[in-house]
Amino acid sequence: MIRVRNVSKSFGTNRVLDDVSLDIRKGEVRCIIGPSGSGKSTLLRCLNALTDFDSGAIVLDDTRIGYTERGSVLKPWTGREAANFRRRVGLVSQHVNLFSHRTVLENVIEGPVQVLGTSRAVAVRAASDLLARVGLADKHDSYPSQLSGGQQQRAAIARALAMDPKVMLFDEATSALDPELVAEVLGVMQALASDGMTMVVVTHEMRFAEEVGDTVAVMEAGRIIEDGTASDVFSRPRHQRTVDFLKDHS
Ligand code: ADP
Ligand code: MG
Repeated sequence: MIRVRNVSKSFGTNRVLDDVSLDIRKGEVRCIIGPSGSGKSTLLRCLNALTDFDSGAIVLDDTRIGYTERGSVLKPWTGREAANFRRRVGLVSQHVNLFSHRTVLENVIEGPVQVLGTSRAVAVRAASDLLARVGLADKHDSYPSQLSGGQQQRAAIARALAMDPKVMLFDEATSALDPELVAEVLGVMQALASDGMTMVVVTHEMRFAEEVGDTVAVMEAGRIIEDGTASDVFSRPRHQRTVDFLKDHS
C-alpha cells in the first residue's frame, strides 16, 4: 500500500534520513523503534508530506510524492500533490494539538466539513460514531482543557480518523502522558489495529511493538538497520545494536 523508496534528507550537513526504503502492506501494523535522534519523526513527517526530502519517492496507492526525471533534471512534487497525499494520511503526534477553543465534537468535524466538504449533519453523525469508538461518547461538548491527557489523545485519534485516512501514523502518541493514562490510548490503537487499519507506529512501548506490531523496523542514525516480523526482531535480532537498544528499553 505504501512504498518508501530511497528517501534521503539532510538538515545542513546532518543526514537525517539516509536512503530509507520501506514497504507497508494494507492492514499492516508497522512499528518503528530506535534511539532518540535517529530520524523516526522526520520519516513520519515525510510520510505525511509535512516536510520535503532531498531524493527518493513515497507512493501511497495511486498518489505519489517524490522526484520525477525530466530529461536530465529531477522535478520535485508540487504543493497540490503534497496536499492530496496528506489528505490520505492521519497523524497523531506526541503533543496533542486540538483546537483549545472548540469542543471535542467541533474538533472532530472540522476536517470533514472544511476540507472534504461533508455536510455538518453527516459529519456530526460520523463524529459521534468515532467518539464512541474511542470511548468519549459522553464528551462531545467538553473543551480539551476539561479532558485528561489520555482523553485528549483519544479525541485527537478520532479527529484524524474523521478524515477517513488510508493509513494512520502515530509518533510516540503516549510518551507525553502520565503513566496511568498510557494504557487507555494504547488500547484504542490496538482496537484500531484489530479493525484492520494500516498503521505506522513510532513508539518506545516495546510491549506494544511486540504484541500489536506485525513488523518492526529499527532505525539508527537515519538508516533502517533491522526490519522484520515483530517476533523475529524481538526474539532473534540480527544486529548487536538492536540487541543493545532492546536491552536499554526492556
Ligand atoms: P527521532 O524522532 O528519532 O528522535 P528526529 O527525526 O526528530 O529523530 O530527528 C533526527 C535528527 O534530525 C536529529 O539530529 C534532529 O536534531 C534533526 N532535526 C530534526 N528536525 C530538524 C529541523 N527542523 N532542523 C534541523 N535539524 C532537525
Ligand atoms: Mg521523534
